[in-house]
Amino acid sequence: MRSLSSLPFFFFFFFFLALFQAFLKSPILVHGGNSSLSPITQIPQDLYHSSDELLREISSLVGRHPDVLNIETIRAGNRGYFAEILVITYDRVEKRKPDSLKFKILLSFGQHGRELITSELALHLLSVLTGELSVRGMNMDSIDSILNNVVIKVVPMENRNGRKLVETGDLCERRNGRGVDLNRNWSVDWGKKEKDYDPYEENPGVAPFSEPEAQIMREITKSFDPHIWVTVHSGMEPGSVHAL
Ligand SMILES: [Zn+2]
Repeated sequence: MRSLSSLPFFFFFFFFLALFQAFLKSPILVHGGNSSLSPITQIPQDLYHSSDELLREISSLVGRHPDVLNIETIRAGNRGYFAEILVITYDRVEKRKPDSLKFKILLSFGQHGRELITSELALHLLSVLTGELSVRGMNMDSIDSILNNVVIKVVPMENRNGRKLVETGDLCERRNGRGVDLNRNWSVDWGKKEKDYDPYEENPGVAPFSEPEAQIMREITKSFDPHIWVTVHSGMEPGSVHAL
């Protein structure tokens, strides 16, 4: 069995950082939002798509690039609550090899409803990978051989139900559609109360993996078995540091 080089990891890590920096400086305006919100609570429509619009844009992007992208929708539910997560896979068809011979990267965004910018970054990343956008100062040809040897799965919006709550006025909501922090619903240290534990913000749910969103992400990680997984979060305001 061929051993996988760590080069893709380091390269992709720095590529990702460069992309994020470029995104923050990008003059590109996006649109969306809920026009029924009051001026005080309105999400800036010149900065963020609505969730529906953003996922539509991503679906369109996949439709334009079937040679490198495909999309699937995974659904789960229990006790009258349902979740749906879109997963986009970047894999160059003409260079397709068994997954075991490629470096597998999982990138997930939007686990917390209020962290709108992360899902925008997912769209931006996919746009760069398909050549629809460029990163200033970066020649995509220079990473061609690396991209031939990776499979990237992107979850652009892990917590769509929570995001909907944000879009209807609960701008500080981070939890899912029934009040559970998806980042506290995994089995690792489930229910552990740190010194700064906030029972509202960090509600872990009734049991590990009680939430459909967490169940879906567990299935993705089990079936894909990535070499690296980056879950992208953002702060609540510029310059702030926010616990994941
Ligand atoms: Zn977060």
